[in-house]
Amino acid sequence: MSVVFTEEQLDIQQLARSFAQKEVAPRSKDMDINGWCQELYDKYVETGLCGTPIPEEYGGAGMTDVEAAIIVHELAKADAGFAMACEISWVCVDIILHHGTEEQKQKYLRAAAEGKLFSFCLTEPGSGSDAAGMKTKAVKQADGTWLVNGSKMFITNSAVADHFLLTAVTDPFKGAKGISAFVFDKGQQGFVVGAEEDKMGMRSSDTHTLSFDDMILPADALVGDEGSGFIYAMEGLDGGRISCTAISTGISEHAFEIAKEYAKVRETFGKPIAKHQAIAFKLADMAMNIQAMQLMLYDVAKDKADGKKVSPRAAAAKLFASTHATQICLDAIQILGGYGYSREYHVERLLRDNKLMEIGEGTNEVQRIVISGALLK
Ligand SMILES: Cc1cc2nc3c(=O)[nH]c(=O)nc-3n(C[C@H](O)[C@H](O)[C@H](O)COP(=O)(O)OP(=O)(O)OC[C@H]3O[C@@H](n4cnc5c(N)ncnc54)[C@H](O)[C@@H]3O)c2cc1C
Repeated sequence: MSVVFTEEQLDIQQLARSFAQKEVAPRSKDMDINGWCQELYDKYVETGLCGTPIPEEYGGAGMTDVEAAIIVHELAKADAGFAMACEISWVCVDIILHHGTEEQKQKYLRAAAEGKLFSFCLTEPGSGSDAAGMKTKAVKQADGTWLVNGSKMFITNSAVADHFLLTAVTDPFKGAKGISAFVFDKGQQGFVVGAEEDKMGMRSSDTHTLSFDDMILPADALVGDEGSGFIYAMEGLDGGRISCTAISTGISEHAFEIAKEYAKVRETFGKPIAKHQAIAFKLADMAMNIQAMQLMLYDVAKDKADGKKVSPRAAAAKLFASTHATQICLDAIQILGGYGYSREYHVERLLRDNKLMEIGEGTNEVQRIVISGALLK
């Protein structure tokens, strides 16, 4: 296959690219130091892009995973943390769209289309890869409400989101089948946002711990069937992993462009370093792997948009893109020499940002478990 976009997709790409380069890129250095920029997000909301994959009957543009991937890809070329903050909302949207009640869809999908941010709350201090080992409990009360106690760790958008998609144990004797999903608004009594995480990269995104201290959720906060929340979360992560692929692809293209331009002008031993074969071959390998990432990204996004099961292929795309993106960032630093190690150029940030793509939404080891599990089934 080759990536061929429709006219409409090219328009979306142009809009996202123009916003990313005019508004996001100039703020990336400042966000790396000072964190989340609400003013930038408010400007993003004005573009209308946040409603892209949401059906028209819920206030969105009625587009698909392909257009969503295009937007995340373009945003990530400017700032990966900002792209991640935006895509996490769509992980929650996907779960509500497929499993929520009509009332939940009317409320939450409309909110997402209007630009309200969502937080996806799965990981806990004691359970990340082994997410089904979570301890947060939601106990059904006599009046049908849910009493929630526990905590979540490393939650993106946690201090800036308006809405939260939470997984919690509702039957401790059923393992993964005893986990349910809930959706609720910020400001619940007993809901506490903890200290901000001091992260290596993705510093433009907001990450905190959350705790729930006798938080009461109404009966209708339950999403879908009781006991199916873990499956919903894993399904949501298929889309999230496609977004991670888009982010690593965007980071790689950014690093490649910086390295290529630098190699053309930096001279050693009487010629541009691009004329030294060792540097030219690095650029060739970078370009080759970027091309493969792009193909994997849009191939799997298209299949998800067509309703196909994509778990192992989304895992493979994320694994391939995140691993190669780390190497591309390292190679870009190498091509820039001492300047690559300096914060003046962006490549050291790109390396720090991309490292999360080998950890978040399932580590590289977890992606290999998903891929090999499907192969050997
Ligand atoms: C900046 C940031 C943002 C995040 N955002 C969110 C978010 O919005 N929502 C959310 O729910 N979570 C979020 N996370 C959490 C993230 O998804 C987890 O950190 C990740 O899933 C890994 O879990 P862990 O950190 O507990 O590592 P662990 O699960 O403890 O793993 C530690 C190491 O052991 C390896 N390992 C574990 N089990 C196996 C195995 N069976 N075989 C081989 N190796 C194994 C892992 O691959 C890893 O290398 C975020 C994390 C970060 C750092």
